[in-house]
Amino acid sequence: MTKPVFRFAPSPNGRLHLGHAYSALLNAELARRFGGRFLLRIEDIDTTRCRPEFEAAIYEDLSWLGLAWEEPVRRQSQHFDDYRAAFRRLQGRGLVYPCFCSRKDIAAAVACREAETGRTWPRDPDGAPLYPGTCRSLTPREADRRIAAGEAHAWRLDMAVLRNLLPGPHGYRRFERDGREEAVAADPWRWGDAVIVRKDTPTSYHLSVVVDDALQGVTHVVRGRDLEAATDLHVLLQALLELPGPLYHHHGLVLDPEGDKLAKSRQSQSLAELRSAGVTPQDVRRRLGFEAHPTPST
Ligand code: GLU
Repeated sequence: MTKPVFRFAPSPNGRLHLGHAYSALLNAELARRFGGRFLLRIEDIDTTRCRPEFEAAIYEDLSWLGLAWEEPVRRQSQHFDDYRAAFRRLQGRGLVYPCFCSRKDIAAAVACREAETGRTWPRDPDGAPLYPGTCRSLTPREADRRIAAGEAHAWRLDMAVLRNLLPGPHGYRRFERDGREEAVAADPWRWGDAVIVRKDTPTSYHLSVVVDDALQGVTHVVRGRDLEAATDLHVLLQALLELPGPLYHHHGLVLDPEGDKLAKSRQSQSLAELRSAGVTPQDVRRRLGFEAHPTPST
């Protein structure tokens, strides 16, 4: 039997905080308990926000926590061709369409629909309005003309076509820390015509994560509950691309004293800041509910 494969997949767009530490420690702990492998993946598709110094800091922070991972580390920015190939498969089957809308265009179209109908336009699980479908009705000729003219565009999944092709029911298997498993229903349609290739980079979080998990043979995905809804879409992509579906565990989030999720954007205290304030890796483990790691003898 092949060994279970776990991975921690941070984005180097800021310093790691306790929420990341929890996810990384849990992945490593479960890999150990299940007799599996632990991989680290750098999710740096956003070449404007990701920075080499943040990547270096990830290695430093995780080593400080006492974690060890397999080399080489997969860095997504070195594998755009893999995501392009997956996208071409979807494109070749007519499952995607180009979208030239800006966020402002979408907000305006949605406001218009809301004024017409007197009803709130549906939102996706991240709270963004579902794409109102403006570019879905462009003729292929018009779309090709705009692409040839160099107009910036994203690519969206055509959920109307996909619903016919793969009506479902969709689902995946969830696993618990004690190894128990159960079936979970997934609803990919609640994402609307999701962006599968962004305007600014030749992939998206959803596409690259699904392609990489398959290429790296990941069998157990352990990530925060904030990504639970994304799994519904990942399941659909796995079915479309004929990729194996890993088991999933969505863990609770580490909250700040106000009860908010820790976030780089909210200036949550980083592991580096805790470290310079004298906090030890053992303190972090204890605070996050992991038994203290034996201090390496020097
Ligand atoms: N890169 C994502 C993040 O930093 C995690 C992706 C995943 O675990 O699927 O939030």
